[in-house]
This record gives sequence, C-alpha cells and structure tokens, in this order.
Amino acid sequence: MVRNRTVLAFLAHPDDAEMLCAGTLIRLAEAGWQVHIATCTPGDCGTATENRWDISSRRTREATASAAKIGGHYHCLDERDGFIVYDKPTLQKTYDLFRRVAPSLVFTHAPKDYMLDHEQASLLARAASFLYAGPNVSAFPVLEGSCVPYLYYCDPIEAIDPFGQPVSATTYVDITAQVDKKAEMLACHASQREWLWAHHGMDEYLEAMRRHAAMRGRQIGVAAAEAFVQHRGHAYPKDDWLAEMLP
Ligand SMILES: [Zn+2]
Repeated sequence: MVRNRTVLAFLAHPDDAEMLCAGTLIRLAEAGWQVHIATCTPGDCGTATENRWDISSRRTREATASAAKIGGHYHCLDERDGFIVYDKPTLQKTYDLFRRVAPSLVFTHAPKDYMLDHEQASLLARAASFLYAGPNVSAFPVLEGSCVPYLYYCDPIEAIDPFGQPVSATTYVDITAQVDKKAEMLACHASQREWLWAHHGMDEYLEAMRRHAAMRGRQIGVAAAEAFVQHRGHAYPKDDWLAEMLP
C-alpha cells in the first residue's frame, strides 16, 4: 500500500500543537507533507477577561493563522475546555474528521498527561486511528490512502507523567533549524502569550517552549528537539517511520 503524505496533529486546545509538535510538523511540511492541525475545543476558557464567544473566535483565528504559516489547515471539533470526554458524539466527530483528512501519520497527547482534557483527546485520537478507515464507522467516504496511521504521543508538559515520573521517548526529532519558525507559529496565539506575559512579567510563553526543546535536544546532543512515544499496539505499524523520514 502506498501511504499518503498527510499528517494530522489531533490535540485538545489551540496552541497545544504549537507547543508540542510544531517543529516536527514544520519539517514534514518542508518535505512536502500536507499538514492538518485539529483541536477538540476553540479554547473558550483561555482568558481571564473575555467571554467564551469572543475568546473562542479569537483563538480559532490564531490557530488558523498558525497552521497557514506552513500551508496547513486548522480544524476544530467545537467541544468545550474542561469538558472533553470520550463519548459517542465526540467519537463520531473525531471519526468524521479523520475520515475527511485520511492521515497516515497522527500526533496526539500522551495517554498519561497532567490535564484530563489531554488524556481524553489522546483516547479519541487512538480510537479514530484504529477504526477511521472502517467503512461503517462514518458517513463520509473512505478516501484513498485511508489506513491505520503511524501514531505518536507528544510529550506531556515537563515530560513527566501525573506521578512525576519522566517519560522516556522512543523517537526524537531534531528541530534545531525549525525552532524559530516554531516560535513564530506559537506567537500567533497572541491571546495566550499576552496573558502569560502579564502574569509572569516576561515572555514565558515562548521561553517555556524553548526550554523544553533545549532539554530534549540535550538528550541527543543537538540544540533543540521534540520527543515522542510511538504507539505500537496490535494492528498499528510498528516500524519507526518518523525516525526514518526525519533522521
Ligand atoms: Zn492543552
């Protein structure tokens, strides 16, 4: 089977992809991949001052602008912050989205993460990866190239699980040459950057991303990296395609 060159980053909130895997998405885009970034929510709780409709509008436009920087497309399931659940209606939306995108490579949150929205998004992505190509699971047509995709889990924040244990990665991607562009994508999320700036009195938003990339980079002897854990359960491809493509 010829695998298509379509990657989907399926995450909980606007800016999660930019924090966790945008460096790798940039490398894939540079290699000719079509990039899709999806979030479960429009980030409706990501504010201390605006109502949920205004902030959702602002944040989905920020996410669209960020994806556009690498010729990518942004999608939103329109769930709500703090209420992402693994249930039938949300699963159906997730299956339908996967069906329309037909990814051969998927990034999502770590199964054990500091935030439950992230864990539920991870479950949704795992379920949809397994079954989206099954004809009866969605009313959308099965596009050519639909398959069980390569599935990779992004780092939790600080690369620790909820019990404080470090996450050991299966796969590292050197993003030294992409980290400035990653910061540019992250900076599209001005609403969040300004909020943290006001709170910390410094540009903590971009600094936190750069610190994490540098920490993962040190582990493989480069200036900046992103780290992933590959899902290798039954029926999933188990060779490390990402490491092969982006050595
Ligand atoms: Zn998040």
